Amino acid sequence: MATPQVNASSDGFRPPQHIVIVGGSLGGLFTGVALKQHGFDTTILERNPNNLLENQGAGIVAGGDTLAFFDRYDRCKRPVAVESQKRVYLDQSGQVVHEEEMKQTMTSWDLCYYMLRANYDHQESGYCQVAGPQPGDGKIDYRYGCTVTDFKREGEHVIVSYNNINGEKESITCDFLVGADGPSSTIRKILCPNVERKYAGYCVIRGTVPEQEASEQAKSAFIQRFTFFHAPGILNLTYTIPGINGAMEEGKRLLNFVWYTNFPEGSEELETVMTDMEGKRRRLTIPPGTMTDEAWEMVKTRGRDRLPPQMSEMVEKTKQPFVQCITDVITPTNSFMDGKIVLIGDALAGFRPHTVASTGQAAFDVLMLVEYLKSGDHHQFVKRTVEFARLIQHRGVYIGNRGQFESLPLKDYIEDRNMMSIPRQDLDFPPWTQI
Ligand SMILES: Cc1cc2nc3c(=O)[nH]c(=O)nc-3n(C[C@H](O)[C@H](O)[C@H](O)COP(=O)(O)OP(=O)(O)OC[C@H]3O[C@@H](n4cnc5c(N)ncnc54)[C@H](O)[C@@H]3O)c2cc1C
Repeated sequence: MATPQVNASSDGFRPPQHIVIVGGSLGGLFTGVALKQHGFDTTILERNPNNLLENQGAGIVAGGDTLAFFDRYDRCKRPVAVESQKRVYLDQSGQVVHEEEMKQTMTSWDLCYYMLRANYDHQESGYCQVAGPQPGDGKIDYRYGCTVTDFKREGEHVIVSYNNINGEKESITCDFLVGADGPSSTIRKILCPNVERKYAGYCVIRGTVPEQEASEQAKSAFIQRFTFFHAPGILNLTYTIPGINGAMEEGKRLLNFVWYTNFPEGSEELETVMTDMEGKRRRLTIPPGTMTDEAWEMVKTRGRDRLPPQMSEMVEKTKQPFVQCITDVITPTNSFMDGKIVLIGDALAGFRPHTVASTGQAAFDVLMLVEYLKSGDHHQFVKRTVEFARLIQHRGVYIGNRGQFESLPLKDYIEDRNMMSIPRQDLDFPPWTQI
């Protein structure tokens, strides 16, 4: 065990030595990478039965905190994001109706994931060089196929129970627990059983098309641009992201579309789209490769009828579409049992994707967690992470509902979007968000 690089605070805070992290997606890996580099011993428990999580091949807008995280903790030293220079708005005929200069950085989920695994447990991949351990690092332990079911406190320790990859019950003892287990978090359900995750009345259809398969018209609409289309019940945004193995060279990138479209609760169309190839009604996601032909035809027809031609082309050319139901969930606080158990990322608050802030939230929470564990300032950790979660979750609901369920002038949607682009450090936190 390395000695954590922390100072015991004057009020007697004793930094933990061994931290269990539930969830091995981006939030869990941000936690593992940062804490390891500060000398803490960590164990990640991930329920997925395979060593590597399934790549959904989709884009992530890399905001300030995501970039700040990689800047501070990435030892692989490869670029993580591509840039666009402009925001462009199309009408249904595909003509540009508004544009503004605005730099934006976009990455892909898989590139972030493999960079974090390379940094945490030295996982080899085609994405980046593996960064070896350095003196002072804490011990690492990545366990997949481990589904956490319960935990209990015993004095200064927390005992975490899980089913291992063979379905056998096991437990692990730690002195600090991080719930990074996503918007349907088990840790949150145990601590706050009344918090619900609710369907918002619309879905997002997502997919990617290799840049070289796109028409010239589509390339000029989407390369170096962040391109939007608004219509009643529809928002489509399409942009360029890194390609296979994180390739960023021209011709090797992907065009990524994110198409919000309304499917009312209980409607036949929602049932069609959310029933997979095996006839199973999925609750919230249809992963890549599992959509039925019938659902895909229905979606493509909707695209042909309602989207600008460049965006409809992306839908037609996508080979692995996937669907996510848009949901809302937020936890009243993220710290429990005298600050020994915390929730971060989507487990704290599942934002609507319009906020382009989910990955940034996970990165920010971890940057704040490091401060907490180094200084013992528990109040600041809770205040800053929960106030941010409250504000952005609320704004996501507000702009999402305006976009999908109201018919407003384009300028209102542009203003909403620009509000979401205010850097975190410049945000005003109204009294109702404050701790
Ligand atoms: C496989 C996957 C692919 C994704 N792809 C994209 C994408 O392409 N684009 C995008 O914008 N966002 C994507 N996301 C969402 C994005 O990663 C998150 O919104 C954001 O990064 C914050 O993530 P999180 O780690 O807090 O939660 P999540 O990403 O939801 O991760 C939670 C993790 O916890 C694990 N878990 C849940 N319950 C338990 C349990 N009881 N025991 C052990 N482990 C548990 C889950 O398997 C999951 O790996 C993806 C998420 C996942 C899991």
